[in-house]
Amino acid sequence: MLGTIDGDTKNVSESIALENAFAGAQAQRYELRPEDLLAADKAARDRGMDLIGIYHSHPDCDAYFSTTDLKNSCPWYSFIVLSIQKGDFHHANSWLPNVDQTAAEKEELVY
Ligand SMILES: [Zn+2]
Repeated sequence: MLGTIDGDTKNVSESIALENAFAGAQAQRYELRPEDLLAADKAARDRGMDLIGIYHSHPDCDAYFSTTDLKNSCPWYSFIVLSIQKGDFHHANSWLPNVDQTAAEKEELVY
């Protein structure tokens, strides 16, 4: 997600779809290649924005932040999880991991 940060408010203006590099069942886990993240970061800066977060979906599941999500997170991005129920968007939550990646705080999300 590309956008701007104004104080405590992050505004997402654009998103870039990155390929899920996970070799197993795509619906069960996602992995991003570091080079894809770097390219997205460059694209953001080329447009006068920042890479401010990463979103992924949980098919037929709640929009919680899983232990795997926490393990693969980093504290400088917001992580939005979308709950997709039977193929349709249901709800979303935004999570902000702490520096130790031991917990993630739910952020207010307006969409
Ligand atoms: Zn997840």
